[in-house]
Amino acid sequence: MHSEPVALVTGGSRGIGRGICIALAQAGYAVAVNYAGNAEAAAKTCALIGNESRSFACQADVGKRADRERLVDQILEHWGRIDVLVNNAGITSIGRRDILEAGEDSWDKVLAVNLKGPFFLTQRVAREMIRLGAKLINPAIINISSLSAYAISINRGDYCISKAGMSMMTKLFALRLAEHNIRVYEVCPGIIETDMTAAAYERYTNLIADGLTPIRRWGTPDDVGAAVVTLATGRIPFCTGDRINVDGGFHLRKFP
Ligand code: NAP
Repeated sequence: MHSEPVALVTGGSRGIGRGICIALAQAGYAVAVNYAGNAEAAAKTCALIGNESRSFACQADVGKRADRERLVDQILEHWGRIDVLVNNAGITSIGRRDILEAGEDSWDKVLAVNLKGPFFLTQRVAREMIRLGAKLINPAIINISSLSAYAISINRGDYCISKAGMSMMTKLFALRLAEHNIRVYEVCPGIIETDMTAAAYERYTNLIADGLTPIRRWGTPDDVGAAVVTLATGRIPFCTGDRINVDGGFHLRKFP
């Protein structure tokens, strides 16, 4: 068994996932950097981590059962433990169509990657965490949802529903796993500068300047990484099932 705690970060090759991988590695974790198809980007995340014994790129489509099983088996063979799972991999609504026009293809893909995959990956990893018990350090599962879990976009209904589902999934597993000392959290990013938001860069930049977020700047993958490390390392130990907003205050509602 590896001597350092091990983290599995899905979608660790780019964007928010990369920021989380680097932050966890800096906090002393060995990191399994999962990716779907971009091996080059995953290799870059590993290179940025720097320490070869502390990272490991592993391909798997989290939406596919066989891939999820292979992913967990591979990490357990390689390091013998998983102390932290970060369900970060996600895709946006395909075609961003109005809910009166949206098709089942996008629904099936988005729900598979953003909700079904994380649910069953969590189930598998949680069973392994329970088996490993006291050998693990601060076992935790962290789900990266979105402000879309509660803020409505009628041209991304499937995405919103997948993220709202992830909120409930967090509470379900938090309750079920508390007796095993496994903490479960939802980290809820706001507007973060990544490939996912690149197409809307100008629009979001203008909205932020106009006060959409009380803290008037783009969020960064490092902002999300810092929150994940705080939760993973048990610095808020008597909490589980909570949502941490990493959104510059977007969630604050003000009376007109
Ligand atoms: P991104 O830049 O598009 O990166 C997506 C990452 O997910 C990549 O590493 C990609 O791997 C991986 N991925 C995609 N489909 C996958 C699959 N089927 N199996 C495994 N990995 C897969 O996205 P991001 O902006 O960093 O978003 C990361 C998470 O944060 C998502 O869950 C997203 O919904 C959420 N989020 C983002 C924002 C934002 O403003 N950016 C806000 C709120 C929430 P490859 O490199 O191999 O393609």
